[in-house]
Amino acid sequence: MIKLHEAFEIVLQHTSRLELERISLLHACGRVLAEEVASDINMPPFPRSSVDGYAVRTDDLQRLPARLQVLGAIAAGTYPEFKISSGQAAKIMTGAPVPEGADAVQMIERTQSTSANEVEILEAVSRGANISPLGSEAKRDQVVALAGSFISPAMIGLLAAVGRHEVAVYRAPSVGLIATGDELVEISEQPRAAQIRNSNSYALYAQIENAGAQPHALGIARDQKSQLRELIQCGLQYDLLLLTGGVSMGDLDLVEDVFAEFGFEIFFNKVAVKPGKPVVFARSGKTMLFGLPGNPVSAATIFELLVRPAIRKMIGNSVYQNPIVTARLTQRFLNRSGRENYAPAWTWYENGAYHVRPLPYKGSGDVVSYAASNSYLICPIDRTELHAEEQAQAMLRPEYF
Ligand code: AMP
Ligand code: MG
Repeated sequence: MIKLHEAFEIVLQHTSRLELERISLLHACGRVLAEEVASDINMPPFPRSSVDGYAVRTDDLQRLPARLQVLGAIAAGTYPEFKISSGQAAKIMTGAPVPEGADAVQMIERTQSTSANEVEILEAVSRGANISPLGSEAKRDQVVALAGSFISPAMIGLLAAVGRHEVAVYRAPSVGLIATGDELVEISEQPRAAQIRNSNSYALYAQIENAGAQPHALGIARDQKSQLRELIQCGLQYDLLLLTGGVSMGDLDLVEDVFAEFGFEIFFNKVAVKPGKPVVFARSGKTMLFGLPGNPVSAATIFELLVRPAIRKMIGNSVYQNPIVTARLTQRFLNRSGRENYAPAWTWYENGAYHVRPLPYKGSGDVVSYAASNSYLICPIDRTELHAEEQAQAMLRPEYF
């Protein structure tokens, strides 16, 4: 049985960034930029007023209040045709071009309109105040985003501002998903005695999508080698293939046997982690396969610990692991497993520090407790007990933070 960090290294060693593709900007959020992007314009493209007020010459504000002639009003989207000379001003709106001759904008709150074409400036402003100079954010042809940048909503905004309808990104992996088990029924069905709804396919589908990859649910394979073979064969068209169940020690846990019969290269089949000890990681050609445990909390947790990092790497991300923070542990925690323990927990930030509370948890089938968690309390493999109030590690689940 290998340690979790060893499994993590092996998974990353055998996954690599996928090739480029060009996609529409609207679909690029969560992906990684595969090209350098330069601005096609100066930003801003003209000296831009950042407030509503009056464009003035600061030399005119030596004595206050300063009474100035108003030449007109400049709205955003219109270009002023006049030039401001000594003793003159123009009313100006946020986002409008500052007219020639003006060297500052005074906020409307610090002025008083005395008539239709006259204003009193009540307070001084420094030269350049409330004006974003032409090209001050980026010059035309300046690189504004490097290849390898994560495409956040903020990055989408930047790419939109420089006119990119389409961008080159690294392809997101396609991920096939197979549930295994004779006891499984569709979630629309009322389970009869000894039956269990196939909830894993739904939870993992959502996790795959949330990780930025493309899920393909292939349905349920019964615990027979022929059915497993058939669905696995179909799943080999994807970059990743996830199976759940059928990897522990029962008579009908056939996944690893079938992998071996196919001749897949198997890298590990057990990891010293709780929940989720039985995990098979294998390769067939370009497809990487994970045999995940059947228990829902184990399957979801191993996805977070090993599969999501693989997807991140394939998408081109340079950070693979979920964030881990140091947090004050609210209560004692026991770890009799002899494995590294990832216990469903609630982590929050309060008074300048993180705090973590392990949730009452009845084991790796306990989806009720798991669904109420936003993080994991991590107990190292060599600790049988964590003490109340000690500084522990909490792994945050990215959809919550
Ligand atoms: P297994 O690893 O196949 O022995 O399954 C372990 C436990 O997880 C059993 O209680 C199964 O009923 C349950 N389980 C397996 N697959 C699923 C699934 N797709 N959805 C929900 N529970 C499952
Ligand atoms: Mg099973």
